[in-house]
Amino acid sequence: MTRPPVTTAAGARAASGPVTTVIENVHVATMQPGAPYGAVRDAAIALAGELVAWVGPRAECPAAPAARRVDARGRWATPGLVDCHTHLVYAGNRAAEFEMRLAGATYEEIARAGGGIVSTVQATRAATEEALLAQALRRVDALRREGVTTLEVKSGYGLEAAAEAKMLRVARAIGRERPLTVRTTFLGAHALPPEYAGRADDYVEAIVESMLPQVAAEGLADAVDAFCERIAFTADQTRRVFEAAKRHGLPVKLHADQLSDGNGALLAARHGALSADHLEYTNAAGVAAMAQAGTVAVLLPGAFYFLREKELPPVETLRRHGVPMAIATDCNPGSSPIASLLLMLSMACTLFRLTPEEALAGVTRNAALALGLGDRGTIAPGLVADLAFWDIGAPAELAYQVCLNACVGVWRSGQPVFGAP
Ligand SMILES: [Zn+2]
Repeated sequence: MTRPPVTTAAGARAASGPVTTVIENVHVATMQPGAPYGAVRDAAIALAGELVAWVGPRAECPAAPAARRVDARGRWATPGLVDCHTHLVYAGNRAAEFEMRLAGATYEEIARAGGGIVSTVQATRAATEEALLAQALRRVDALRREGVTTLEVKSGYGLEAAAEAKMLRVARAIGRERPLTVRTTFLGAHALPPEYAGRADDYVEAIVESMLPQVAAEGLADAVDAFCERIAFTADQTRRVFEAAKRHGLPVKLHADQLSDGNGALLAARHGALSADHLEYTNAAGVAAMAQAGTVAVLLPGAFYFLREKELPPVETLRRHGVPMAIATDCNPGSSPIASLLLMLSMACTLFRLTPEEALAGVTRNAALALGLGDRGTIAPGLVADLAFWDIGAPAELAYQVCLNACVGVWRSGQPVFGAP
């Protein structure tokens, strides 16, 4: 039996008040660093309101006579899962384009037929907030059934002030409609809108001078992201967006080095980014800079799979430099139409050769870090009691088994939201 180290996590708050609930007869993958999975078999978790007060071997659980006792019937508990990179607010879908591509159509033919990101932008601009929310909630509910309790959502299919703000309002509404935490990211620099064709610098000017200040003033975004790539924005344009984000007190993230080595990871690290995402073509200097800056590597195996990419992200170099690796769905209509974080655990292992433990850390501890959330991601005293319960014999099953959702219950902030442990 291994015990979690008795450490206080960075975002821990002092649990106020008495222990309200004790979950017992449970095995816990605390995901605290140290022992594999931070695992404690035959454990107990004591909660004080919305926070974890204590976790450890059941035999050592402090007495709490007034607490509600919950029998987890030998199930495993992990931290609630965190999907730290999604674009799941959008209208329409790209199934017709998928079909055309498989029938041999070229990108140019697809674009001429109205496909590509422009089709998603047009559909999203035309959709009402209610319609966008209804579509998004289907994806969110699929993720919730797999234990997701914290979710990041990016804008980037509006590409004009009003439609970007609409997407972010819908993302905020998800967190009111469903019991999960939503972090929103402004991604105005996702693609060049058609009305700015050939005038990328002018569009970046509009982002910096008007769109971003408006989003910041309305409190719609928790972070700012950009797509730095030959087919999107240059390093110089990305830098301008980052500098504007800093002026508005917003942390940054970056879609970096997905299709080519554009020194995106280096750029992200130099701006103290929370995360650099994709990273298939990232070079060693970029990885070293990320390690120094504390920038999290967010790996997105779903996009790698769907686009049938060949270049693997530099996992061994990331390991050697101790860069925390997160995993996310990248749920979006064009390159990762996937609403399963558990499938990403499998793909991270089979495609990117992560260990099952690294993959689980990638959707818990490190995913929380990628969002700048120090109050969750492990099960530890003082952290938010977001918990997922699993009908498994060992944590490695979560990455091993495909399409057999073993999630039997989810608690958020110390309260059950569905199922039972
Ligand atoms: Zn993305």
